[in-house]
Amino acid sequence: MGATGSIGRQTLDVLRSEPDSFNLVSVAAGTQIGKLCEIAAEFGVRRVGVTRPEDFVATRELLGDHVEVVVGGDGLADLAADADIVVNAVVGFAGLPVTMAALAAGRVLALANKESFIAAAPLVQRVRMTPGARVLPIDSEHCAIYQCLADSSPEPGHPDVRRLLLTASGGPFRGWSKVQLAAATTQEALRHPTWTMGPKITIDSSTLMNKGLEVLEASALFGIEANRISVVVHPQSIVHSMVEYVDGSVIAQLSQPDMRLPIAYCLGRPVRFDHSWGAMDFTTELTLSFEPPDLDAFAAIPLAYAAAQRGGAAPAWLSAANEVAVASCLHGEIRWADIVPVVATVMDGLDSAPLETLEDLIAHDELARRRARSAISAL
Ligand code: MG
Repeated sequence: MGATGSIGRQTLDVLRSEPDSFNLVSVAAGTQIGKLCEIAAEFGVRRVGVTRPEDFVATRELLGDHVEVVVGGDGLADLAADADIVVNAVVGFAGLPVTMAALAAGRVLALANKESFIAAAPLVQRVRMTPGARVLPIDSEHCAIYQCLADSSPEPGHPDVRRLLLTASGGPFRGWSKVQLAAATTQEALRHPTWTMGPKITIDSSTLMNKGLEVLEASALFGIEANRISVVVHPQSIVHSMVEYVDGSVIAQLSQPDMRLPIAYCLGRPVRFDHSWGAMDFTTELTLSFEPPDLDAFAAIPLAYAAAQRGGAAPAWLSAANEVAVASCLHGEIRWADIVPVVATVMDGLDSAPLETLEDLIAHDELARRRARSAISAL
């Protein structure tokens, strides 16, 4: 789901390299319908999902009668319930129906859509209990932690773990002062030093909101409170994250930055495919460095910890407000430096935050988006 985006395309690369291991049964995309139909034809896919109703007719015409076309969140949910492994690579909150449907149907969910998991954490935790349901994180840091936790106690909350160490490249603005950041441009923000990704996550990486969201994601995924999760800046993006055990041992996972490695790991589990994506070369000099993040200049991280502390709907508000602010920045309506202040303004206005049902979540999501749009208009 999200087949034409960055993670979707790299997932298809993994499938092409393992043609005997997988059968692609359905694909879906939000916008690039032509590309989606090419993928469907290449892989002989029988069911295709489009998110926008206006794309239905064109997609039907491109694919012909032998392929079923479904539409919208309900359509994608239907596809997600109908595969052994679901890769959720939809961007943003729109990925929620896929996450919920895959888990409710007891499927393996290879998760690249962190926003749905963060916003809906209390609801997701319930459907995760469905027999057969499993979440395997594609997000490189979380995939690393998942692997580093292999030796951990099976008890809930991992009592033998002192803390998770989430690594961050620091993005294109690492080392910039607050004064320099105030003049940063969106074009500069879109030049990530180590990863090539979609525009939303690239902007999130430049504000470090991505890392803040990843703290929330790790907390929800592994059942470890945010105060036992630390962010460490590691500019080389070789160590994808680490787990520090109570005896002082730190276990890390290393590779060159290549998302096909975590994707293949999630799809193959428990088998590790023989490939060279992300292969390390230790025959030449290699320097790995680590430094603390500048939490004063990059306020997104403290905002995310505060949202984790509040719980309930606070993570949903954070993620929704950020989505609106990032989209507005990408459309050239606000400056890069306005993104985090817009999110902070929205978070200041959150007073009561219970989140019990899907209806609660959708109401919170809509309210946070409205508040973000008015904060943007007020600028
Ligand atoms: Mg990541």
